Amino acid sequence: MSARSCVFRNFILRAATLFTAILILGTAVRSEPVLGEKEAKLGQEAAAQIAKEHKLSDNAADLKTVREIGERIAAVANSKEVPALYGSSKVTPFQYQFNIIEEPDVNAFSVPGGYIYVYRGLLDFVQSEHELAGVIAHEIVHAAHHHMVYLLEKQASLNNQIAIALLASIMSGARASDVGNIVLGAQLYQIARLNGYGMQAERDADYGAIIYMRDAGYNPVGLLTFLERLAKRPEMVDWGIYRSHPLDAQRVAAAKKVIQDLGIPIKRRETTRAIKAEVKVDTVDGKEIPGVYIAGTLIYRPAATESKTSADIAKETADAINHVLDSNVQMYEIKTDPSGYGVLVRDKPLLVVSDADAKLMGKTPQEVSKTAADAIRAVVWKQIVDTVH
Ligand SMILES: [Zn+2]
Repeated sequence: MSARSCVFRNFILRAATLFTAILILGTAVRSEPVLGEKEAKLGQEAAAQIAKEHKLSDNAADLKTVREIGERIAAVANSKEVPALYGSSKVTPFQYQFNIIEEPDVNAFSVPGGYIYVYRGLLDFVQSEHELAGVIAHEIVHAAHHHMVYLLEKQASLNNQIAIALLASIMSGARASDVGNIVLGAQLYQIARLNGYGMQAERDADYGAIIYMRDAGYNPVGLLTFLERLAKRPEMVDWGIYRSHPLDAQRVAAAKKVIQDLGIPIKRRETTRAIKAEVKVDTVDGKEIPGVYIAGTLIYRPAATESKTSADIAKETADAINHVLDSNVQMYEIKTDPSGYGVLVRDKPLLVVSDADAKLMGKTPQEVSKTAADAIRAVVWKQIVDTVH
């Protein structure tokens, strides 16, 4: 069933039971935004409705993951004022609650007062806790910046009926029922677009999420890699998070710019499962020696030098390789050093293989260099294949 039909079917079915809630909000819509207590009450009623209409997860491990991340971010949202590009930045502490809906959509939504829902499909799609934190932080901003109340206020000034329909669909727990999605449901979408709601609220949620993530100790690049990967999958766009979170290249670019402006390095391998160079310690002849691995293949085992330990060199090498892999490198730019003692990238040394290093691996420096260059090129090739559609 499409989200659209869901919204209106639910509206009809639920209209009666929603009457009280609509009255609460109806009052608010006509005066000033309901913040704090009333929002929480509204949220509570929506949450009760959502619990009736969706199967909420009782998977203890997954709930623990989601709640730990959520609470870390909520602690920031409840104490720090982040300027709102849309809505209000007034800090109104909520008792945030996090739940998982056992449905395959790649989606998440929030209702007023800090009730946040993530779908099973989203948990399967994210590639790191940072990506999950990005989505949860985005939803927390929708609540913390009172987006829904602001939306309703604006819509009401146009047409109170629309506000009521909107609220009803929210309260009925329509799929992907965060505000943006409901707005996408019908003509509401057009009206909201005229008001510029969708994009502004989404931008604000992305911006706030990046700040919250940074302050909560998550890597904000997680939000970026999540958006980038989803944007590459049009089949997700049809039914997934982009119903509620309209995505276009502009939004991805805006998130990227915020991250860059904050001086946060964009290292996508830290927030995704993209193949990366990793250091593993092996026992060789009774000694523990670190090696640099790519996709399970040992490519380099550094011998200690006068100034550095093997572990330090291995870590530096892995970091340098990952940096190159994140830099849009092309296959032809990766070469073995003509001397045979290492790998060059864009004519600069990425890896220098000494005789001592090669000996540790029982190979010649030329062999080690070639294996390493081949392995790095293979990752680049895979990246190219994966991103072309
Ligand atoms: Zn959103």
